[in-house]
Amino acid sequence: MNFYVMTLFPEMISQVMGDSIIGRAAETGTISITPVNIRDYTQDKHKHVDDYPYGGGAGMVMQAQPIYDCYRDIVEKTGPAPRVIYMTPQGRVFDQAAAQSLAGEENLIFLCGHYEGVDERILEEIVTDNISIGDYVLTGGELPAMVMIDAIARLVPGVLNNRESAEYDSFQDGLLEYPQYTRPEEFHGRMVPEVLLSGHHQHIDTWRRQQSLLRTKERRPDLLAAAEQSGYLSPADLAYLESLQ
Ligand code: SAM
Repeated sequence: MNFYVMTLFPEMISQVMGDSIIGRAAETGTISITPVNIRDYTQDKHKHVDDYPYGGGAGMVMQAQPIYDCYRDIVEKTGPAPRVIYMTPQGRVFDQAAAQSLAGEENLIFLCGHYEGVDERILEEIVTDNISIGDYVLTGGELPAMVMIDAIARLVPGVLNNRESAEYDSFQDGLLEYPQYTRPEEFHGRMVPEVLLSGHHQHIDTWRRQQSLLRTKERRPDLLAAAEQSGYLSPADLAYLESLQ
């Protein structure tokens, strides 16, 4: 899977995405992440990429022409026009289901805004998805794009060593994940739950499922209600939840 990031700050992307699991996946060629500098496409002799907003008001607005030429250059490499995601606080809020669906794409283009944002006409022309990472305003789209790339890339087969770890993560089945423990068995007087030391896989599975239900009920009751409506909960899950009342 190939990620292209249209940005004014390409180093931000390469510095952060070059490390850890995502960096390793890019090194082995399972994914590629290509930051593309919008400024390289400006026709302005002073290399400007932004200008004052028509109608007045604070801040600067990124101009359409450099973004369009940058986009055309990427599409020449990818072939059939990929989805173009504009990172914006005005978009629908990103979640695990969106990550799952985008992980099936071969190519994705991200457009990172800065300053006051981007000339609306280029957004109308090339953007297929307006996506936000939450109801707050950041200085630029680079961090949001990297959040999305990380969440999507780890669902691409071969990126994680152990596919199971994505399978049981929070949100994958509509619930939060159960608590995790590692050595030692005792830390500051706190013991690892005994069932995890029992070697009894069925008991461990049941305990983990119940912890997952309990944690979701306590921390994200909204998710639990949605999981029930979507049919994610078995009769045993419902009986356990009932026993908590
Ligand atoms: N004036 C814009 C508005 O009110 O919608 C906000 C512009 S913001 C300062 C600059 C850029 O940061 C945006 O163009 C967008 O690319 C990015 N950005 C800021 N907050 C974001 C969020 N919550 N999710 C995704 N992108 C965001």
